[in-house]
Amino acid sequence: MTKKTLGLNTICTHTGEIIDEQFKGAVSPIYMSTSYQFEDVDVKRYPRYFNTPNQEFLSKKIAALEHAEASMIFGSGMAAVSTTFLAFLKAGDHLVIQNPLYGGTSNFIREELPKYGIEFTFTEGYQMSDFKKALQPNTKLIHIETPSNPLLTITDIQAVAKLAKSKQIITTIDNTFASPILQNPIDLGIDIVIHSATKYLGGHSDILAGAVAAKQEHIDAIWNVAKNLGGSLSDFMVWMLERSMKTLALRVKAQSKNAKKLAKFLDKHPEVTHVYYPGLKSHPEHRLAKSQMKSFGAMMSFELHESIDASKFLKALNLIKPSMSLAGVESTMLLPALTSHALLSQEERDRLGISSYLIRFSVGIESKKDLINDIEQAIASAK
Ligand SMILES: *Cc1c(COP(=O)(O)O)cnc(C)c1O
Repeated sequence: MTKKTLGLNTICTHTGEIIDEQFKGAVSPIYMSTSYQFEDVDVKRYPRYFNTPNQEFLSKKIAALEHAEASMIFGSGMAAVSTTFLAFLKAGDHLVIQNPLYGGTSNFIREELPKYGIEFTFTEGYQMSDFKKALQPNTKLIHIETPSNPLLTITDIQAVAKLAKSKQIITTIDNTFASPILQNPIDLGIDIVIHSATKYLGGHSDILAGAVAAKQEHIDAIWNVAKNLGGSLSDFMVWMLERSMKTLALRVKAQSKNAKKLAKFLDKHPEVTHVYYPGLKSHPEHRLAKSQMKSFGAMMSFELHESIDASKFLKALNLIKPSMSLAGVESTMLLPALTSHALLSQEERDRLGISSYLIRFSVGIESKKDLINDIEQAIASAK
């Protein structure tokens, strides 16, 4: 059987399993060794070389899900992002980065890249004209993120890939919000896919990890830098991630289905003034999202009417947790103005459209009616 003939749930459950030859156990054994034989072996294994049995085999699952030749697992999403950027950029090169962008990626670029003499331009927006305007003769990499945080803007993946290819520029995408279940950017021409595996790949809010998927040549280039930077993940956590990923397709599909219903509920609610969700027809890039995603994901944002105190609303929730991270099986909400985007000036937040009434909602797998009841009672008590 080739990878292509296997269904999504089969890949999630079985691809990259390590067969337990000794005891015939049903799941992959964990190999915690940091020391392996060096003579008469094909591969000199060491955890920071990203090639222990658990690392090597789980990479096959991630590569299969992203339709990539190869993949690597990192100690965090930011280890994956930073290592990838440093693998393809050197002093004098220029990077184009999409705005809006995950805050950690933005901080890495602003705080670290100048130390390496790497130039960069943040785009004004996420339209093709914005990318074209930001290009320079020394641009070597374009980085995009779609859907984006927290307003769920959608970037035209295929158009960006085409623009970059015509100028021999490498493209990277942060595919965290969609997950490989809903969006496969390599099929649309992107070179390198990056994930914070802390989010959907892990899915239970208990693993910090990252991943990249690409063709072998690009993975080799990333590996060359990765072994020096040392951002590998412990084999115990790699094993945890493998266990979590068996249910990745089940979880993401259930969460996405829930989210669509909740977006419709919020959209009709008299106390909600706006819902940002690519699955709603009112979303400006709804058709683009439909063309490049299999479903619209489980992240959304909404604005409460100004007569409702957003902080009070969050405190009044009983079931949905007011909490920082996202993508777990449990639903969470936060106020971007007080958390992820708190370090920006009021002016910058206004420019990005992040009001103090805006709430980001990561939809879990709970029963829809319980989530709706929780939102209803919290709105009522925050009036
Ligand atoms: C969380 C996140 C990251 C960073 O991942 P860590 O695992 O926290 O290092 C990068 N991009 C996006 C879109 C994220 O949500």
